[in-house]
Formats: sequence, structure tokens, C-alpha cells
Amino acid sequence: MTEPFRFQSVAIVGIGLIGASLALALRDCGFDGAIAVADRNADALQEAEALGLGTTYHGDAAAAVADADIVILSVPVGAMAAVGTAIGPALKAGAIVTDTGSVKGAVIDAMAATLPASARFVAGHPIAGSENSGPGAGFPSLFNHRWCIITPTPETDPEATEIVSGMWQAFGANIEMMEVTRHDLVLALTSHLPHLIAYNIVRTASDMEEVTEAEVIKFSAGGFRDFTRLAASDPTMWRDVFLHNREAVLEALGRFSEDLAMLQRAIRWGDGEQLFDTFTRTRAIRRSIVGAGQDTAAPNFGRPQEPRGGE
Ligand code: NAP
Repeated sequence: MTEPFRFQSVAIVGIGLIGASLALALRDCGFDGAIAVADRNADALQEAEALGLGTTYHGDAAAAVADADIVILSVPVGAMAAVGTAIGPALKAGAIVTDTGSVKGAVIDAMAATLPASARFVAGHPIAGSENSGPGAGFPSLFNHRWCIITPTPETDPEATEIVSGMWQAFGANIEMMEVTRHDLVLALTSHLPHLIAYNIVRTASDMEEVTEAEVIKFSAGGFRDFTRLAASDPTMWRDVFLHNREAVLEALGRFSEDLAMLQRAIRWGDGEQLFDTFTRTRAIRRSIVGAGQDTAAPNFGRPQEPRGGE
């Protein structure tokens, strides 16, 4: 067993940005046990092998998990149930299964319906990522100084929670324990809604016939550029997030639409005070985010060159 990890063999199902970063982070932290890599995508599997991310490579997730003490699911949220069904019968008794999915309620339900009672499931979500996907996008420091949210339920095994938390801490992540529905609401506001808005702004701009595409690109530093980064995020991952966190996203979207209507009215009626008050309040929030070390005040809209900092 390699300190600080309390397991000897790992299986990673889904070797995209997150799965590859996990494999690299494990090795970076001195983990010298087996890493079985599984993915349904033959190209991703081949790329993972070329990058030397694992010790064995499997198109069949069940074959990958058979010897694993801990199985990490890093597939899109919509694929979790299918993976749970595939790996359930092959898991060792007492094996820990954890995930990285951006939505927690739907994944916990999917695991409860598909994993055997002997498996110990711990739901997790690293608040770290980028708009890039695939094994080549992974890097070992992705989780360093980022939050990882763990959402235990009364059924979650405390020892398994400790082992999973210890792994993330070894990667440099800070752990936050959170209740499941709270996670899904908080993330709907801080991550899912911003992505939806970004997807929509970029679509609106590209559909506006009076403004040419060349002008949109040329003058993108006026604010549009930051939205294009979010709107370049993986379509499969984000489709699944919206389909599986429907209630919380609709709740956040309802509040957003009301506030947007207020700003629209303020512009229409020339209510500068309302606009100024809102923008002063939001500026203070930006400063607290920088103060909390969750972004930088540097130029380039606070965007570091290395892709990191959250979904
Ligand atoms: P990704 O780069 O798109 O990689 C996902 C991989 O899983 C792909 O190779 C995909 O293959 C494979 N896959 C899909 N369904 C599968 C199945 N049934 N069996 C085996 N492999 C399957 O995704 P990612 O960005 O690493 O995200 C992984 C998970 O982490 C998601 O749940 C996401 O919500 C969460 N997350 C993402 C971020 C982020 O910023 N990207 C941050 C935090 C958490 P195909 O190409 O064939 O679909």
C-alpha cells in the first residue's frame, strides 16, 4: 500500500480530462499500485495507453474493475447508470466505488439502483476542470488547491468516505462535505447556470445577422471571449448535466430570468441608480472570489494560461 493511499489497485472508468488527470495525479503522488483504465471509446483508450496513464487498458469496464480496491467513475453523468450495471457483478466484495460527476442526486440514485449492496459508494465532485476533453487534456495538478465536494448520505460507509477524502487531499484538494440536494442547487447557480448563459450568448451572437462573424471574433475582448471559453465545453457532459439536474437548474434559471427582466426594465426606463447599485454589488463578489484564491486579479480577465479553475 503506498502512503497516503489506503488502497492497492485502482480502476478508472472514463479516461477523459478528469480520468486522465486522476491517473497522473496518482502517479505524481507516488502511488505505485495497478491502475486499470477503461473507456468505451477505442481512440481514447489508445491515447491513454500511448500516454502511459495506466497499467492495463480495457474496452470492457467489468474486466477493469475485477481486481480493484477502488473504482473511480469519470464518465458523463448520463452514462453512470449503464456503467454501474456493467461493473456491479464484477466488483470485489467491499470495493469502494466513487465518482466525479457534476451532478450528485442523479448519480447517487443510479448507483443505488445498480451496484450490489457489498459495494461502498461515495459520491464526489472535484470543482476543477476546463473546456478541454479527452485523455490528452489531463494534467496532474488539476485538483491542487481546488475544492472537492463529497456528498455522503446516511447509507455511505464512513471508512470509505475517509479513504476517498484522503485520496483527494493527497492531490492537494480541499474537502467540503455537503448534503446532496444542497450540492445540486449550489452547483446549479455557480456552474450550471453560467454555462447555460454562455452557451446561449455565443449562440445569440452567432445568429445575429446584422453583426458579422468576423466582427464578433475581432472584438471579442469586449467580454464575449470569456463566454466562448465556457461555451466550448464538452457538449455530451453538459447535455447530461442539464438533463440530470433539471429541478435545481430550472429553479436557478427562474430567479435569473426575473433579475434579468429587472435590469431590462432599468435600461428601458433609464434607471441608472438601479444599474449602478447592481454592478457595485457584483463587483464586491468578484473581489471576494479573488480574495478567496479562486481566481486571479491578473489581466486577461483573470484567466491563467494553464487551463484550470473549474467547470
Ligand atoms: P470527457 O473528457 O468527455 O471523458 C469522458 C470519457 O468517458 C470519454 O472518453 C467517453 O467516451 C467515456 N465514456 C462515456 N460513456 C462511457 C461508458 N458508458 N463506458 C465507458 N466509458 C464511457 O469527460 P470529463 O470532462 O473527464 O468528465 C468526466 C466526468 O467528470 C463527468 O461526469 C463530468 O460531469 C465530471 N466533471 C467534469 C469536469 C470538467 O470540467 N470537464 C469537472 C468536474 C467534474 P466517448 O467519447 O465515447 O463518449
